[in-house]
Amino acid sequence: MAFELPPLPYNYDALEPTISKETMTFHHDKHHKAYTDKLNEGVEKDPALQGKTIEDILASISSQPPLVRNNGGGYWNHDFFWKSMKQGGGQPSGALAEAIESTFGGLDKLKEEFNTKGAGQFGSGWAWLIVDDAGTLKVTSTPNQDNPLMDDVKDRGTPLLGNDVWEHAYYLTYKNDRAAYLKAWWDVVDWDVVGQRYDAAKK
Ligand code: MN
Repeated sequence: MAFELPPLPYNYDALEPTISKETMTFHHDKHHKAYTDKLNEGVEKDPALQGKTIEDILASISSQPPLVRNNGGGYWNHDFFWKSMKQGGGQPSGALAEAIESTFGGLDKLKEEFNTKGAGQFGSGWAWLIVDDAGTLKVTSTPNQDNPLMDDVKDRGTPLLGNDVWEHAYYLTYKNDRAAYLKAWWDVVDWDVVGQRYDAAKK
């Protein structure tokens, strides 16, 4: 098999009460696994994809069928998502904190814009904080399992942070209240990782 389901970088209950053990178990073991398995089905059907990294595949996704687009996106997005969170969260620091201040006027303003994008994404999708080609921080959203690495999305860039606004990400705890989930989620954002991504993107 080309791609393997990466293990969660913490225990299933590590992000409680923000994300319940039950949500985490289904989200990782069922949803993320299904994206991984179906991505592998797509890769098996196309020898040209075999041996490519997921990032390479995403960078030319416009030439791929929906099977590879949806599940390649789902595979990458969830791995990125797990790694963006930790118990206890934290606060932005260093160059990232300065960029958030100068771009958005502070962390609260960034959260507000991000939550509005996430709540406004009709149906399923993701909200993102990215660095665009000009080196500027930007809040965006994508439908389905699209992401900012795909060559044909409206807002391309280097993802720093992403939140999954599919109902499977929050329904067991927050029911239909996506806004409540978006608001609570900041408690588990690993700002150290986001800052490292920012520093790497600016190099
Ligand atoms: Mn998901």
